[in-house]
Amino acid sequence: MNMQVDSRGKVDGLTARCHCGGVSFILPTSRSGVVACHCTDCRTLHGNYNAMLAVPREAIVMLFDDTLAWYDSSENVRRGFCSKCGSRLFKDRHLADHVMVSAGSVIGPVGARIVENMFEESKGDWYDLPRTRRDQLPTA
Ligand SMILES: [Zn+2]
Ligand SMILES: [Zn+2]
Repeated sequence: MNMQVDSRGKVDGLTARCHCGGVSFILPTSRSGVVACHCTDCRTLHGNYNAMLAVPREAIVMLFDDTLAWYDSSENVRRGFCSKCGSRLFKDRHLADHVMVSAGSVIGPVGARIVENMFEESKGDWYDLPRTRRDQLPTA
């Protein structure tokens, strides 16, 4: 994944981790907002839709990756998860310059809202689509 471990120990940004702490990393404060993916792969893997942040690959600073494992969820997409606690952390599309990071892995406030729904047509029938910033614009 071409992530670098930071030897200085402190970097500005959001801190994220899996539930057990075997994987932890730092990502930049989000400027692009949260994407909600309703595809069948996310539904199966996460038990619901997955809320993700698009992060430039080189901007992710790994602190611990002892238990990070990868699963090929489709031909061109692999998912990074903790092999100890099962937290699903990354959706990594082959050759993409952004890695999708699960918003739920961020400790504390993410500072961003859902801005886009993806694969709405395959969403589960037990919930309504989350409102996006676009939905909240006043209609004149
Ligand atoms: Zn873990
Ligand atoms: Zn998905």
